[in-house]
Amino acid sequence: MDTKIILFCGPSGSGKTTISQYLLRNNSNLCFSVSVTTRAKRDNEVDGKDYYFITQEEFKKKLANDEFIESEEVYAGIFYGTLKAEVERIWAMDKHTIFDVDVMGGLNIKKQFGDKALSVCVMPPSIEILKERLIARKSETADSLEKRINKAMTEMSYSKQFERIIINDHLEDSCRLAQTMLDEFLEA
Ligand code: 5GP
Repeated sequence: MDTKIILFCGPSGSGKTTISQYLLRNNSNLCFSVSVTTRAKRDNEVDGKDYYFITQEEFKKKLANDEFIESEEVYAGIFYGTLKAEVERIWAMDKHTIFDVDVMGGLNIKKQFGDKALSVCVMPPSIEILKERLIARKSETADSLEKRINKAMTEMSYSKQFERIIINDHLEDSCRLAQTMLDEFLEA
């Protein structure tokens, strides 16, 4: 099978993870690319499922060994990246890969894979709504909330570089739209 890549990008709190999870639940031909991160694991997260949680030293070693397709210091002192081995693991299963990465990472991966990849930017209806969602999620401190809002404003300015945009106002509609985008891309 000609396996493809679907990139869901956008600010933290935009809903891109929820939309990706919806597609993963409903399409058995997809597999989630688990990124590596140096940030602390949240209570509801599982190592190896949501992320591979590693130390900064381990991250630097992997970087030096050229093990990443893409990596980034998404927030000051917090590193994220996709391992070449992760994508090879998914391709070996003959599945399409879903990425949930930030905007810069997504554009970087799109550049590497060209027509093999579909880039989708998920945007909140407004910065105010994004802030409300992040507060409701209760995963952030005041400091990390501010960092995420600042980064979101930068990320939203890159949305035009994506092939598709989803304004995530109503989650059910957004999930349906994402499914249509996926179907069109896989059929093409
Ligand atoms: P969180 O800490 O909320 O899980 O993720 C913070 C941001 O990092 C999100 O926008 C998420 O999509 C992004 N991210 C997760 N994995 C990667 C990755 O491998 N590369 C890049 N560039 N960003 C990632």
